[in-house]
Amino acid sequence: MKKAQEHENRQCSICGLHYKDKELAEECHAWCSTHKSCNLKIATQSLEAQKRRFDGN
Ligand SMILES: [Zn+2]
Repeated sequence: MKKAQEHENRQCSICGLHYKDKELAEECHAWCSTHKSCNLKIATQSLEAQKRRFDGN
């Protein structure tokens, strides 16, 4: 079987952002479930935000 679950652990199931650290994903999930919005400080550490930076906006 694939290691899909391991990947899911690093995704915030609320906002859908991915993180390289499970802790960050949990932090994001905790924030999202409480505040119903993204914490910019956490979101900027998501893989999506970092990829965007590499794409050279
Ligand atoms: Zn989130």
